[in-house]
Amino acid sequence: MGKSYAIFNQKGGVGKTTTNINLGACLARKGKRVLLVDIDPQGNTTSGLGLVKRELRDTLYEALTMEEYDVHKAVYHTETKNLDIIPASVDLSGAEVELIQILGREILLRNVLAQVKDEYDFIFIDCPPSLGLLTVNALVAADGVIIPIQCEFYALEGVSQLMKTVELVRREMNRNLQITGVILSMFDGRTNLGLQVVQEVKRFFGNKVFKTVIPKNVRLAEAPSYGLSIVDYDPSSKGAKAYKKLADEFVQREGR
Ligand code: ADP
Ligand code: MG
Repeated sequence: MGKSYAIFNQKGGVGKTTTNINLGACLARKGKRVLLVDIDPQGNTTSGLGLVKRELRDTLYEALTMEEYDVHKAVYHTETKNLDIIPASVDLSGAEVELIQILGREILLRNVLAQVKDEYDFIFIDCPPSLGLLTVNALVAADGVIIPIQCEFYALEGVSQLMKTVELVRREMNRNLQITGVILSMFDGRTNLGLQVVQEVKRFFGNKVFKTVIPKNVRLAEAPSYGLSIVDYDPSSKGAKAYKKLADEFVQREGR
């Protein structure tokens, strides 16, 4: 049975999507069967892996909203072996409002993923930068939460709200939800600020913080425009090495 993780931080631009794509790709390279789920209406994981949103007939939107829908129709293979994706579509932006009418609106994604969970080792859900119904669906469907934090000023801003949301979902809807780990991203070792933020985040989250820190690396920002993960775009870059190391640490931690 696969394990699912919500990559969650309601702040935008902290490295959620970059982590989703590249941690996923590195685990797939290690032979793990990985499914990426794009529940962010912006669809950056979808386009970052080379899928063209307006050309897709079956997406997560159909899977969430249609009754008795076979999710396999919305699963696409990527350029990377063992790496599959359920893409987002623009329709997803309307879903936040549409779904409010539906009974069991918080457990839609959990039910969708139940159809494919035993076909994968790891499922990663790329959350939107908000605390709305789509994010709640991700947290309800997840076994663990992965929190990327950008190494910059105000890094911990919003973290107490984030933890409250996780706590609420755990109490009301998903009692086994764990904080899997915190990933420090976009680290710039040349500044004192970067180092200070690392210390501060470690004080707050203790051993939940992954030892592997993701550096700022322009190749990571370039890769999505080619529709490739970093290991396919530039495997010798600092960014690729960091995500490979993170994948090793991840497997070790999760014991899979
Ligand atoms: P989020 O999904 O949390 O909004 P993204 O992963 O999309 O964040 O990252 C925000 C921006 O920063 C994107 O343009 C991305 O390419 C870039 N980026 C992410 N991680 C790095 C990194 N380690 N080094 C350089 N640029 C990065
Ligand atoms: Mg994103």
